[in-house]
Amino acid sequence: MNARRLNFEVLTLFPGILEGPLNESILKRGREKGLLNVTLRNIRDYTEDKHKTADDSPYGGGAGMVLKPEPIFKAFEAMKTEHPGEKVLTILLSPQGRVLNQERAEQLSEEQRLIVLLCGHYEAIDERVVRALVDEELSIGNYVLTGGELAALVVIDAATRLLPGVLGDEESAYRDSFGDGLLDHPHYTRPAEFRGMKVPEALLSGNHAEIEKWRRRESLKATLLKRPELLETAELTGKDRKLLEELKRESEA
Ligand code: SAM
Repeated sequence: MNARRLNFEVLTLFPGILEGPLNESILKRGREKGLLNVTLRNIRDYTEDKHKTADDSPYGGGAGMVLKPEPIFKAFEAMKTEHPGEKVLTILLSPQGRVLNQERAEQLSEEQRLIVLLCGHYEAIDERVVRALVDEELSIGNYVLTGGELAALVVIDAATRLLPGVLGDEESAYRDSFGDGLLDHPHYTRPAEFRGMKVPEALLSGNHAEIEKWRRRESLKATLLKRPELLETAELTGKDRKLLEELKRESEA
């Protein structure tokens, strides 16, 4: 059976921002295992003047520079030529896009097309690029970054860690927060007592049913206290709902 793998092509003016993180930890391991492939394409390499100009001042005046369309179209066309016939999904990292969430990360982790991540910089990208080349705009949150590079890394990381075989324990990604619509439960490791702080009894019991019960309760509790809005869409059993009622009473007492 063919292993699922992810192919990204990042179009950027600052490939160096991505190089360090791609060579560390899980992303490095994913690449070494051949499950993740990331090509960094420097938009500046597709400029034609001697100053390698990739941006210009905005029509209509005002502050900030705008990324010129020509080098981006050329970089995109070079990418297409190098991947003949391959289907491509082009995502513009943008604060104006739909905000990335775990559901979208899961969909991206199953994406078979080559995923092109287009990173903006400065004030904006010429709108003709957006209209002609971009399939989707994706934001990593309601704030403005200097450029799309950090956002591209977030997208690559969130999708890659969901690929089977990338994390040591495959299940662990699905037990993380949002995997089942709830936040993760607290975690402890040795020693059982540290500076007077004890690990909860249930976790030391060795009784799996007891441990699972404790974890589910703590997961519900963390969600109720930190992100109650998630409970509106989480998949909850009758038992969960009862537990939640109990937890609400406890928190109000
Ligand atoms: N003038 C733009 C606006 O207000 O919509 C912001 C431009 S921002 C300074 C430069 C680039 O950073 C954007 O083109 C985009 O690629 C990236 N960027 C900024 N914030 C982002 C976010 N929250 N999510 C994803 N990309 C972002």
